[in-house]
Amino acid sequence: MYNNQMLRLEKSYTLEKYEKTLTTKEYYTKFVNFDETSESCKICDMYGKNWSCPPFENDVTDSWNKYDHLHLILLQLHYDSFITDNIHSKEDIDTILHLTLFNEKRKLLQSLDKKIREDENLNDTMVLSTGYCNICPSCTKKDGMECRYPKNKLYSIESIGALVTKTTEELFNTEIKWIDMDKGIIPEYLTLLMGVLY
Ligand code: SF4
Repeated sequence: MYNNQMLRLEKSYTLEKYEKTLTTKEYYTKFVNFDETSESCKICDMYGKNWSCPPFENDVTDSWNKYDHLHLILLQLHYDSFITDNIHSKEDIDTILHLTLFNEKRKLLQSLDKKIREDENLNDTMVLSTGYCNICPSCTKKDGMECRYPKNKLYSIESIGALVTKTTEELFNTEIKWIDMDKGIIPEYLTLLMGVLY
């Protein structure tokens, strides 16, 4: 992919952001089912290859009992026709995701980190990310070694049992859309769901 195409990609979407806060008890009762999510995780390439992904050695669902509130952030990237009207190779989809979705994930995590550091009422929190932890270029679990940064390791909201599709549909009134890797088609929008337990 050429530089001018990469610049075009960075301008290929607009953002919509929605936020919602509820008690952890309410969220847990309606939207958490660890058995269901850990079954779904088994078909992912990262299953068992990242310290933030199942199967876990500890009971990660304890986190739902430790905090009173959950603040949810849903971010949608709405792509223009430059993305949605073209068929993309797997390599190009990878590049597009890095320059758009993963870049926005990184920026959102940075802004959450800043907000938590600046707010003295948020001295005990747990950030719930999306997808596997990618703090390190390659997770040490693949090599049978301990996590490099256990205090900073990022669990995704679904890895500890949150039903993401149900959450987006019932709390944010929007559907998750998926990339069709076989056909090389990126849908009109992609969604990131993150949270902060506090
Ligand atoms: S911090 Fe590094 S070693 Fe630990 S889970 Fe994340 S990527 Fe893996």
